Amino acid sequence: MIAKPSQRRVVRVGDIEIDGRRPLFIAGPCAVESQEQIRHIAAGVKLAGAHMLRGGIFKPRTSVHAFQGLGARGEKEAAQALGWLRDAGREFGLPTVTEVRGESHVEMVADYADMLQIGARNMYNQELLVKVARQRKPILFKRHFGASIEEFLSFCEYITDAGNEDIVLCERGILPFGRGRPQTRYTLDIAAVPVLQKLSLLPVVVDPSHGTGRRDLVAPMSAAAIAAGANGVMIEVHHAPADAFSDGEQMITPAELAEVIALCRAIHGQLPIQS
Ligand code: PEP
Ligand code: MN
Repeated sequence: MIAKPSQRRVVRVGDIEIDGRRPLFIAGPCAVESQEQIRHIAAGVKLAGAHMLRGGIFKPRTSVHAFQGLGARGEKEAAQALGWLRDAGREFGLPTVTEVRGESHVEMVADYADMLQIGARNMYNQELLVKVARQRKPILFKRHFGASIEEFLSFCEYITDAGNEDIVLCERGILPFGRGRPQTRYTLDIAAVPVLQKLSLLPVVVDPSHGTGRRDLVAPMSAAAIAAGANGVMIEVHHAPADAFSDGEQMITPAELAEVIALCRAIHGQLPIQS
């Protein structure tokens, strides 16, 4: 039996409560690119109805030649970009979340962000999990694309064991299988949502952007996530996806985000009420 909302953990991020009573929308660019860019997108996602602002400053990239995020340019540049994200969030009333990619910058990121993201590639990084947990900030914990649900929850215990239970779990797609070129970047494991909710009391959100790698699939997969009972979705948004430094092919515009949010809210409104 899935726990009722009243029994589930409520995670607070700034003045936002992730309590399962209404879907949470986290939105923003793949990466913070400039002060103007993050401010512009923050305004757009706020208007579209988002509750939180995302934006990577330390980007995990497969290729060393790809844009690594402004954080890779040096400590001064990292602090500056973190300040831009924080200020954009504050201006538009959106608590912020950004990734902590390595142990060297845990404290710096914690000084600026309201929520700390542990990316898929770091799910197995025990020392990072413990160090991030000790910052006493809520954590967005992403599932590794090769991890079973059991492993995901097992590594989550490194965070709880370090004394931090303010965790939101994020399903972001697992490795596709089969021969030939896959149609999606990953396979979004929608069944993980109710399974995680049966096995843990933590909120569960879905990332349809990285999960599919395709902007045309963001709306249907967000809808599927909410229909499956997800507590929210995290969506990559850019005002000019074609010009983005990273992940342009999966980003939607703020106007499209407004449509996705309306769709998700309509679906959520049809779900049986649990008390
Ligand atoms: C991200 O959310 O910015 C990201 C890189 O996602 P993941 O760690 O799931 O690949
Ligand atoms: Mn991205």
